[in-house]
This record gives sequence, C-alpha cells and structure tokens, in this order.
Amino acid sequence: MVAGVVSVSAGRAGSGSWFERRSCLDKVPFASRHEARAAARSVERRYGGRLEPYACRFCDGWHVGHQMARR
Ligand SMILES: [Zn+2]
Repeated sequence: MVAGVVSVSAGRAGSGSWFERRSCLDKVPFASRHEARAAARSVERRYGGRLEPYACRFCDGWHVGHQMARR
C-alpha cells in the first residue's frame, strides 16, 4: 500500500505584502488606471481620506488603496 506523496509548498513571502494580496482578493480589479482613479475619487468624496490607484502585481489589473499617512 503506497501512500500518495503530498507536497506542501510553503507560501513564499518574497513578492508582495500580505495586504496587497488581500486587497487583490477583496477588490474588483479595474481595467485601467483611469478607471481606478475615477473610483478612487468617488470614494474620497464619500468617505474622505486619500486613495491612490496602483497596478496590481497579482491580477494584472488596477486597484485603489489607502495612502498611508507618514509621520
Ligand atoms: Zn489584484
């Protein structure tokens, strides 16, 4: 009786931070920077804050994310 070999590939944390990946899963990607920017502006109007469009490295689309305030 031979058991199948299960290879577990450890998740590599090399490329992309966890929140980038998470934001990719949570959000609908935009086809272009222009669309992402338009969406960012409408969210800014509604909730305030600062959103910036960025190219996603996981789904090859565009998302909008919060601009982290720096001290
Ligand atoms: Zn994405």
